[in-house]
Amino acid sequence: MIAENLKNLRKRIEQTCQKCGRRSEDVQLVAVSKTFPVEAIQEAVGAGHIDFGENYVQELQEKRQVLAMHPLHWHFIGHLQSNKAKYIAEYIHLIHSVDDISLGKEISKRAERFGRVQDVLVEVHTTDEATKYGVPPKKTIALLKELSQLQCLRVCGLMTMGPFSDDPNDSRQSFRQLVELKREIVSEGVENVHMQHLSMGMTHDFEVAIEEGSTIVRIGTAIFGRRVKNVN
Ligand SMILES: *Cc1c(COP(=O)(O)O)cnc(C)c1O
Repeated sequence: MIAENLKNLRKRIEQTCQKCGRRSEDVQLVAVSKTFPVEAIQEAVGAGHIDFGENYVQELQEKRQVLAMHPLHWHFIGHLQSNKAKYIAEYIHLIHSVDDISLGKEISKRAERFGRVQDVLVEVHTTDEATKYGVPPKKTIALLKELSQLQCLRVCGLMTMGPFSDDPNDSRQSFRQLVELKREIVSEGVENVHMQHLSMGMTHDFEVAIEEGSTIVRIGTAIFGRRVKNVN
């Protein structure tokens, strides 16, 4: 079932890329496995998938331990509390959700102890919805400048979430705002900051995200099914 879902999803990604003249190699798929058991991840691994996204440190740690024999790329996509950065610093492939300087400093400090430079994305809050997470667009460049000073942190792009809505077109505005912000950052030329990735698009709106220029889509439901515990 999961292998089948992945196959269908990859086909939809390819078709969307084709439709808008992009190369499907330029869109990475992160399979969001939060709340799903190790067996589900194993099924996806069996189908050749290696990039997985998790939102909770403890859950990630447990799964990683069981799956240690597989060379997987773990992505941290949820809100990361500063005091938990140390648990994942040794191995986390990409942290999508850096939204303040104190978290950035802690990640850099912990990465340094393992002799790593940690790749991160800056999470931007692009909707009107009340949420504690994500830096406002107007404050993003200032944050990037601060983050760029950190020794063991490398900013590789931006991440955002569209609004909670059934209509994927409602996300378009958010995604365009992220693209526009990237353009501003590139033209301003913030040193040591790379804008190679835009992480945007989930099960309900990834096609719109790809049309708007997403390079990483984070998809759970379309691969693993509906979450019983519906947490974000
Ligand atoms: C849960 C989650 C996803 C995946 O959502 P689906 O709708 O199941 O595809 C993507 N990004 C973040 C940040 C999430 O928390």
